[in-house]
Amino acid sequence: MVGERRPVVLRNGTVLTMDGQKRVLTGHDVLVVDDRIAAIGPLLQVPEGTEEIDATDGIVMPGMIDTHRHMWQTAMRGYGADWTLTQYFVWYYLEWGKVFRPEDIHAGNLLGAAEALDAGVTTTVDWSHGLQTTDHADAAVDALQAVPGRFVLAYGNIQDSPASWTAKPEFRDFVSRRITGDDMLGFQLAFDVTGDPAFPEKPAFEVARELGVPVTTHAGVWGATNDDGIRLMHDNGFMTPQSIYVHAATLSADSYHRIAATGGSISVSTESEQSAGQGYPPTWAIRAHGIPVSLSMDTSVWWSGDLFSAMRSTLGADRAREHMAAHARNDTVTHSSLRAEHVVEWATVGGAKALGRDDLGSIEIGKKADIVLLRNENSPVMFPVLNPYGHVAFQAQRSDVDTVVVDGRIVKRDHRLVGVDLKAIRGQVEQTVEHLRAQLGEEAWEKGMNPDIPTTKVLDNPYTYTEYRGDTRTSV
Ligand SMILES: [Zn+2]
Repeated sequence: MVGERRPVVLRNGTVLTMDGQKRVLTGHDVLVVDDRIAAIGPLLQVPEGTEEIDATDGIVMPGMIDTHRHMWQTAMRGYGADWTLTQYFVWYYLEWGKVFRPEDIHAGNLLGAAEALDAGVTTTVDWSHGLQTTDHADAAVDALQAVPGRFVLAYGNIQDSPASWTAKPEFRDFVSRRITGDDMLGFQLAFDVTGDPAFPEKPAFEVARELGVPVTTHAGVWGATNDDGIRLMHDNGFMTPQSIYVHAATLSADSYHRIAATGGSISVSTESEQSAGQGYPPTWAIRAHGIPVSLSMDTSVWWSGDLFSAMRSTLGADRAREHMAAHARNDTVTHSSLRAEHVVEWATVGGAKALGRDDLGSIEIGKKADIVLLRNENSPVMFPVLNPYGHVAFQAQRSDVDTVVVDGRIVKRDHRLVGVDLKAIRGQVEQTVEHLRAQLGEEAWEKGMNPDIPTTKVLDNPYTYTEYRGDTRTSV
């Protein structure tokens, strides 16, 4: 699906550079040659044959970066809209995650990848914890490579312990076959740390260290992962600047200090934390500790893979808490601490930094050409643009994404995806849904949207490889 690149110029837009000075340039052009940003300025001279895109009245911004999304779940879009985290654990971890075949992972990833590009998310971390076999992993990568976006495969397997799946020869074989240093496909290991004092996850961290790849982990998830896991990681030297802590919503100051001191970052999924129940969206706390932030959408089984929603809900959650805290002191907030420009920064350069990609996340000469144009002549919401950061965070939506460029290639133009066969993806997704419905049976399928919690299983912590249960309930 990857075609030849020709130079592209976006003309006369308002450019949110997200560079070190956070320059906002009005009436500027951005020229892309090959995979890089070649020039930024008014009325640029461009090479012959350059594709011209009118950005007048539009906002040109870096492609957005989502640092945590379970793309394999996208074929179940919206199914769990009313779930709690416990119901999610029961459905995926304990009951039905195991019925997903490689082709189902493939279908979900294709749809998730298309969804990301359509929304202007040019880099997505596929937190792929349904990889029961390396056939599933091959299917995941096949899908990511069939869609012209930038992805990071975060390899995981909730059906097995991290120590077990990372030790398998076929896992090593997969890594050597498929993870080749391709700029369009990064790699992480994805698993959680239960806090069991025996530290059963230790061998998996050792594999990550040996492979030289980052670990991403759901940390600070009410009832499932807590300060015990952070302490174990810290005491064993596994907290690094590359570590990504997802949610980090139910942690004490001690854990935030450890994250800050070791240079890691936190992936905040505000919509997820608000409605699933990992803890209050933590930006208010992690801002105070100076920890770098990126944003994520978690899973389309509840929410859409759209970072406009992430920016908006993150501003809302942070400001709501600030107001409530002030009111509790019989005080009032006169100036919001969290600004629109902060969430735009987290959605772009924040994600790039979390992934160790200095070449992504901003519009600067020499950087990779991952660019989004927000423009919609048919929308009453796209004018006037008076406060560009505020416009991105609170006004714009997925349908305003006119053009998306990834690695110098146009992947969305005039509001339509290019080089993505949605009809074919729809066919695969239909087959997956059909398979899942058949596996569950109609009754379980209907009930699954609001599943009962089996009395023989639990409850908060869904990991079956350890009997350990943390003390979150009493310690918080
Ligand atoms: Zn997650």
